[in-house]
Amino acid sequence: MMKKATVKEGKTVTLVYWDIKEIPVPPGFDPRRVRPCINGLLESHGYSGPVTIYAVGILTDVHVDILRALSSSGIVLYYTPFCGSKIMSLMFEWMRTSSPPGNILGICNRGDFPSPPQSGYNLFTPFSDSSPHEDAISWRNLILTVSGTLEEDTCSETYESTSWFCSICHPDDDLPGEGEVHPDDDLCGLDLPGEGFETFTGHLSSQEHVLRRREGLPFEDFLPLPRFRDEDENPPTIVRWQPEKATPEESEAVTSVFWDINLFPVPPGFDARLVRWCINRLLESHGYSAPPTIYAVGLLTNVHDGILQALSSTGITLYYAPHGTSDIRLLMSQWISKNPPPTNILGICDPRGFPPPLSGYNIFRPFSYSSPKQDSVLWGSSLLTDSGALEEDTCSETDECASWCCLICNHIGGQGFENFTRHLSTPNHLQNLSHEGSSSNKRRT
Ligand SMILES: [Zn+2]
Ligand SMILES: [Zn+2]
Repeated sequence: MMKKATVKEGKTVTLVYWDIKEIPVPPGFDPRRVRPCINGLLESHGYSGPVTIYAVGILTDVHVDILRALSSSGIVLYYTPFCGSKIMSLMFEWMRTSSPPGNILGICNRGDFPSPPQSGYNLFTPFSDSSPHEDAISWRNLILTVSGTLEEDTCSETYESTSWFCSICHPDDDLPGEGEVHPDDDLCGLDLPGEGFETFTGHLSSQEHVLRRREGLPFEDFLPLPRFRDEDENPPTIVRWQPEKATPEESEAVTSVFWDINLFPVPPGFDARLVRWCINRLLESHGYSAPPTIYAVGLLTNVHDGILQALSSTGITLYYAPHGTSDIRLLMSQWISKNPPPTNILGICDPRGFPPPLSGYNIFRPFSYSSPKQDSVLWGSSLLTDSGALEEDTCSETDECASWCCLICNHIGGQGFENFTRHLSTPNHLQNLSHEGSSSNKRRT
């Protein structure tokens, strides 16, 4: 149980150090509510003084939209590759430079607290258990429980001058030379500060920061993909929540991609001709070297013609199927029945679109978040992230034999985009469509 504030503690400042990697924002939870929840928790225990919250960790591993939301609510972003020891040193540093009384709430492993504590400071955690796993559960319950009562007055605050820090860069930094980086540089309290979220993301991609990171931190992840770790506690049995490195067998095997284009549309302004390249790149970066077959599945009459034509021109197969997730499930099952293992299936779709697991089939999703909303955010941003690097050699592939299929017309298929649009207006198709009773068959212009 969290400690109740004494009268003195109730009036003084509270600093919150939150290990955002160990104790992440739960999938589907609106990150803008984290701050009101922490404040509500503190208030309910009698802490009514000013609160400053630091989200500490390898922030490049946290999705940028989550960071932006946290930042907009006034949480200070603190980039560091050494999270636990950094939290400890921040707590130390604060106690060294501020006289008591003071409250420090550590949303982190208990082992990150300085010990022994200095007298006059009130160090505490919101958790009663010491195991990281149980901590994570109570974090989730705590947040979700407290937030239930706060629905109304959240999200209203925005802090124009929200700040951030980078613990591996320093003000007045020149580019690091050899041997200049010391792991406890950051104990000196000289971490580079900044204001505003855009300057933060700008800094993380700046040459200065990237060089610093490379020089001092050979262990950090340099792979652009996957940036999204497994956040879900309960992935379906055999469906991987994100691609893993292909085994030698898998890397040679055929790969089919089932893409629900209604659920995961091409983002506005994004060149549809890049989609295939991005999917190929994702697969290649994980060792899947056989060229995939990509099916854009959905109620294609709800997708703009220009997009369909662009996709088709790059060799993506258009699959007219009006029932969304259940059609995807059907198509995957049919495909599995025709293709013996080993095979790879990438499903850019609702997880419920996956058929029951079968051994020998390597079935996975491109990213790990479980809520549909976060999925679509990741889809958009992972595509866009990729495209920056590939302006040059795109659009070169065209597949003359790009094909299409129509599920409601007994999987009839053909070649070419013109042929596809013609099919959609044939009496046969329209008749099958009216048997479907589908009401959303108007073409968008
Ligand atoms: Zn930096
Ligand atoms: Zn048809």
